[in-house]
Amino acid sequence: MRKLSFLTFFIILFSLSFAQIKPFVVVIDAGHGGHDKGAIGSTKYAIYEKNITLDVSKRLGKLIKDRYGSNVKVIYTRTSDKFITLKGRANIANRNHADLFISIHCNSNAKTSPYGSETYVLGLHRSADNFEVAKRENSVILLEEDYKVTYEGFDPNSPESVIGLTLMQDAHLDQSIEFADDVQKHFTNIGRKNRGVKQAGFLVLRETAMPSVLIEIGFVSNAAERQFINSSKGKSKIAKSIFQSFDSYKKEFDKKNGVVIASSSTNTANNNTQVTSKEGIVYKVQLMSSKKWINKKSSNFKGLQDIERVQNDNGIYIYTYGKTSSYSAIKKKQKEARGKGYKDCFIIALKNGERVSVKSTL
Ligand SMILES: [Zn+2]
Repeated sequence: MRKLSFLTFFIILFSLSFAQIKPFVVVIDAGHGGHDKGAIGSTKYAIYEKNITLDVSKRLGKLIKDRYGSNVKVIYTRTSDKFITLKGRANIANRNHADLFISIHCNSNAKTSPYGSETYVLGLHRSADNFEVAKRENSVILLEEDYKVTYEGFDPNSPESVIGLTLMQDAHLDQSIEFADDVQKHFTNIGRKNRGVKQAGFLVLRETAMPSVLIEIGFVSNAAERQFINSSKGKSKIAKSIFQSFDSYKKEFDKKNGVVIASSSTNTANNNTQVTSKEGIVYKVQLMSSKKWINKKSSNFKGLQDIERVQNDNGIYIYTYGKTSSYSAIKKKQKEARGKGYKDCFIIALKNGERVSVKSTL
């Protein structure tokens, strides 16, 4: 027993020192830049999306650095008015093994009435409006040389050129939605109109291999909102609001890592959480996603039975175990799957067949 506790002590010590070696990495991506002005609020007063996004990004980065110092590495995709390809932005995040990717943009509409903030995660365009936003943001690739080769013939103007979830983003979707939910919640707190968390096929999000969101902070096509997001006060408020979400996300991230360390020193699981499931919510345990079609028989899944296989629009098969409206029941299923060797399996939540963050259902 004494030996065991010494061992546990060293495991914790090792985990903590290891955790200190690799700081949390956040990549802040100021949309557009250089000859790509982004959405134009006013030509006369030179109100361009690219300038607003850069300013807000720098403010956000500074807030993070001031609070976290060397515990968080802040990486910008750009700190000056220069053009960067969408793939180039994602590459910066991937190369630096980022833990979170935040892309900052401004919205625009042919009508002047729409206003408010919305945050996107990668997914299918569920509505024509979402497609319009993705189309506008994706069409910057037309300014890149060789875009046809780089993006394998992707046509930003065609709704049929759908970008579904990639294998990598699928694994991070839940965390992306959680962060996006929180960004919208904080925007509401500072009096912005909450247009919600949405899904659409953004190229820049498809290419990243970590939780990623694209924030449309407000409309430059709406007079009052344009004035707000272009003012120092407005940009500062928006940056602070996003920072608060970053802060919660980081704390949650640390807690999750802490939970891993703590669970190695105790065998007692905390099972007394009571959860009332909301209407229409179904939980499943995602075991794996693969391009391969696999027979659902239990011998292919380490003895687990009643496996479900769903093919997403990208042709990727998602394999899940368990299906229940009770969160505590699905936690048990997850424990069982982990016991069978699916160490990285995670719980997903669906509402009327659409992925939602697990946190939002609790
Ligand atoms: Zn944009």
